Amino acid sequence: MPELPEVETVRTGLASSWTGKRVDGLELRREGLRFPFPDDLENRLVGTRIVKVRRRAKYLLIDLDSGDVLLSHLGMSGRWTLDSSDSEGKHDHVVVHLDDGTMSVYNDPRRFGMLDIYDGESHKLLDHLGPEPLEEWSGNDLFQKLKNRKSPIKICILDQKVVVGVGNIYACEALNRSGISPTKLANKLKKKECERLVTEIKIVLSEAIQAGGSTLRDFKAADGSLGYFPHQFKVYDREGEPCECGGTIERLVQGGRSTFWCRSCQK
Ligand SMILES: [Zn+2]
Repeated sequence: MPELPEVETVRTGLASSWTGKRVDGLELRREGLRFPFPDDLENRLVGTRIVKVRRRAKYLLIDLDSGDVLLSHLGMSGRWTLDSSDSEGKHDHVVVHLDDGTMSVYNDPRRFGMLDIYDGESHKLLDHLGPEPLEEWSGNDLFQKLKNRKSPIKICILDQKVVVGVGNIYACEALNRSGISPTKLANKLKKKECERLVTEIKIVLSEAIQAGGSTLRDFKAADGSLGYFPHQFKVYDREGEPCECGGTIERLVQGGRSTFWCRSCQK
């Protein structure tokens, strides 16, 4: 599943390829993905020029010169391929034709992604999102949010009202680097711990974005597709392996998701 760093990498790729171009055609090859495509999608999109590509949480927001915004989410397995020469893949569901003669193809085997268009004012999926981790978001912001939360900190940082786009992998990694147990109750975290955690979340996400930026060039050279790059994790998916502290990485299930952690260095 694409996490925030992958989505940011996709945003960078789309922005460099799409900005300033006019949409000359749209092919929708199914009724929808996770949700049906809006009936007026083609009418509102074709003929507009792309002004900017932004990201909010794991949503891609494509600003059009009409004032509308095209909203894309990659779901579990979505992928945009730029300058594609082939759009006949089994899971190629959407093709966008641009005025430079190129086509961008959206492929999504599991079809949990989405594509929508809205007036740029408000969208129900965006309205209640919490702060962006890489923008102005401080330890004190987190501390205030957690004051009345009695669930484990791991569960809380996956809550999109607390902070957006951290995701399971980066929650595990940031907690390990912060020395905080994933089972610790959120309202028991001291302000210093919140500061440490916020710092580590920003670092793990930034490192992954940088790694993505460096693989992006190779990816585009290979097949033009964006996202999905290999990672090095300290604890994620490493049950039974040694932690850097000498302890052993364990797995537990919280809220239906696997948590990887080390009880020797996370208290
Ligand atoms: Zn450890």
